[in-house]
Amino acid sequence: MYNRKCISALLGVILMTALYGCTEKSADDKPTESEVGLFAMDTYMSLKAYGPNADKSLQNASERITQLESLLSVTDSGSEIYRLNNAEGKETPLSPETGFLIRSSLEFGSETNGAFDITLYPVSKEWGFTTGSYKVPSEERIKELLEKTGSDNISLSNDGSGALLKNGANIDLGGIAKGYAGSCAAEILKDDGIESAILNMGGNVQTVGTKPDGNAWKVGIQDPEDSSKLVGMVSVADKAVVTSGGYERYFEDDDGNIYWHILDPKTGYPAQSDIISVTVIGSDGTICDALSTSLFVMGTEGASAYLKNHSELGAVIVSRDRKLYITENIRDNFKSSGDFAGCEIIII
Ligand code: AMP
Ligand code: MG
Repeated sequence: MYNRKCISALLGVILMTALYGCTEKSADDKPTESEVGLFAMDTYMSLKAYGPNADKSLQNASERITQLESLLSVTDSGSEIYRLNNAEGKETPLSPETGFLIRSSLEFGSETNGAFDITLYPVSKEWGFTTGSYKVPSEERIKELLEKTGSDNISLSNDGSGALLKNGANIDLGGIAKGYAGSCAAEILKDDGIESAILNMGGNVQTVGTKPDGNAWKVGIQDPEDSSKLVGMVSVADKAVVTSGGYERYFEDDDGNIYWHILDPKTGYPAQSDIISVTVIGSDGTICDALSTSLFVMGTEGASAYLKNHSELGAVIVSRDRKLYITENIRDNFKSSGDFAGCEIIII
């Protein structure tokens, strides 16, 4: 671990507990803007949409997010994931959504050589990342818990309608669920005829179409070492922009060491790659979310190699030595700012 001078704590600050009412604004020459705020999936979300029926659509979208949370939460005793984790190895029926996300997670796990691993849950629970009761586990304890991890311990039925966990394994979809929820919410809005929306879901931003005036949405990417600054802005239309960074959830021990929530499945410790934040931009929020977590673990070299083979995805990476890496395909749509304004950008 290492000491950091500047630690941002933007996301932890907002502790709102209820679903907020919609606000609707309109000016004569502007489309109606509606906004809804909610606290779900451990983060404050702000959903904004434009159009005459945006108000109702946003309510539908936020209800869908809440419904997905109650299905996928690892701590809610009524959730499917909780039931599966506590089934003591017995087959548990799954909804199509949960089955899909477990299957996708297994696929991302094999595509990223194990960097994405939903079976890390017993280890991250021990660190206290899912409860907030943080502690540094002993090396022996981490070793012991790593024995329970690995995708081999998940047996998912062919049609995804049921699963069982072997060898005391437990799973957590925290690295992928928010991206999926963003995609589902965007689908609801589109089905309702909404052509312009921006859903801010913690480190995940999901856009629908363009801004009402037809220009691209400009999504700011936070400086991982200074929450008051941006690394830059990316211009997107109809895309997800998903960031993973150690600054999103971490704790500090008595010696000032920082431990963050994205773990390296090989060690059971916070991932020590040369990346401090990675943003993935693409059409599918589920993919962007799983990959932002994975690339954080893989480091700049592994991430660059992966991205070279996936030209449909864009990425902005901030390395520990504060260099900025971006993929070629977003070159014209990215503008650096803050400490990075005018800096050399490494194209990957
Ligand atoms: P994200 O903010 O999307 O990068 O997801 C981080 C969350 O994913 C953590 O809080 C854990 O719940 C979970 N997680 C941590 N490390 C991993 C990993 N290597 N693979 C998959 N999920 C992880
Ligand atoms: Mg993720």
